[in-house]
Amino acid sequence: MSTVPPAIADAYDPERFRADGKRLVDALADQLTAWQRGDGPVLPYRAPADARAAWALGDIGPTAARGDLVADLARFTAASTALANPRCMGHQVAPPLPGAALAELASAFVNNGMAVYDMGPAAVPVELAVLDWMCARLGLPAGATGVLTSGGSLGTLTALLAMRQARAGFDAWRAGANGGPPLAVVTSTDAHYAIARGVRVLGMGDAGVIAAPVDGHHRLTPDAVVRALATAGDRHVLGVVCAASSTATGAFDPLDELADLCAERGLWLHVDAAHGGGLALSPRHAGKLRGIGRADSVVWDAHKLLMMPALVTAVLFKRGGDAYAAFAQKASYLFESGAPEDTWWDLGSRHFECTKRAMAVELWATLRAHGEGWFGAVVDRQLELAQALAAKIAAAPDFELALPPECNIVCFRPRGDGIDMRELRRRVIEDGRVYITGTELAGSYWLRCTLMNPLTEPADLDAMLDVIRALCRA
Ligand SMILES: *Cc1c(COP(=O)(O)O)cnc(C)c1O
Repeated sequence: MSTVPPAIADAYDPERFRADGKRLVDALADQLTAWQRGDGPVLPYRAPADARAAWALGDIGPTAARGDLVADLARFTAASTALANPRCMGHQVAPPLPGAALAELASAFVNNGMAVYDMGPAAVPVELAVLDWMCARLGLPAGATGVLTSGGSLGTLTALLAMRQARAGFDAWRAGANGGPPLAVVTSTDAHYAIARGVRVLGMGDAGVIAAPVDGHHRLTPDAVVRALATAGDRHVLGVVCAASSTATGAFDPLDELADLCAERGLWLHVDAAHGGGLALSPRHAGKLRGIGRADSVVWDAHKLLMMPALVTAVLFKRGGDAYAAFAQKASYLFESGAPEDTWWDLGSRHFECTKRAMAVELWATLRAHGEGWFGAVVDRQLELAQALAAKIAAAPDFELALPPECNIVCFRPRGDGIDMRELRRRVIEDGRVYITGTELAGSYWLRCTLMNPLTEPADLDAMLDVIRALCRA
């Protein structure tokens, strides 16, 4: 006779899970069909205050009628920004590979926290297999390894911690940020804000970032780094943070040349490949990452060009031992004692999280299901779409292109005096037929598209430009 109260037993009933799961997958597949057909808006916009009221929990007390899990999830899905709609071209977030969403269900289902091997006897080796594959694809040398963590921002912080521990000249983990001379990193004025934020979190303050101006192609050149180093004064420079590609424009810094400079000056080279790491899988475009295998550390987001659901970020280290430098503390109740390298199976000593979602399984399973060539073909498709959009803009007398795209990011705007670009972007959001973003470049505002959806067609690009034309006239 079970002592479990019926309501608890019912919620855990495998048959209930089976029935709900089948209904849910059916509902999601119907939604995916509608999205791919372009039915409905990309962004079902409503005023934030209205949305807040509409999504109140309502009565969940003892006497209330119970919600239908599947109906509620279908409603949630339908009210969300439709990344799978071919006219969604906004942020760098992928319409997730449907198989990866299923893999994420399996990950949530086992809920293996995986900071320690005994909480992830499958999740830990799966993660290590994915990391080995990523290191190899970037051309990092034997002995390279890393860790998966929750997003590029946390990944950047992790890499900066390792850089500081390796290059500060004192034990900054134990002595604190001020245990030696003031520290700084050199990066570009176009660098993602995660870098400036990470430096502040490390206690290095405003002076911890030396931002070198980008060149006319939005790249950080070795000359600019040399000039920035000359301004360091009493600051001890740890290393250089460069981008492949940058967030705003998709520009690739010349990694090989920057690696030469860093080698010459004894500086740590960190490559922020959160966005562009996926180009490594495309034989056609991998050359844009030339030199990345010489980096001391790399951040690569699989939830960007590898089409994974957020968040799956790799922090990779050329020397595996550096992976242990970021978080040098001990937690004897979790980790076996001894040198951390001796317990390489306990990943928690290398990442910020304590409990960590088993996030490698979606990449592991979909790589096996589709093969790595599939991922390279998606990258090719997205870069081709960006070229197609740039060509349409260059050919249209009423639009201007900020710069020729190197990646899948296109910055442009309609020509004409008196168009307030921020206001125009706001109208695009409220209109909802297409989804794009905006960015400031050298002090002026541009519209910005990231071509993340491999199902986007050239006709969708024309439709997007037509929506902008119509909103300009309105
Ligand atoms: C997206 C991005 C980041 C931040 O990554 P999150 O996963 O969004 O935290 C950092 N750097 C670059 C270049 C990016 O494109």
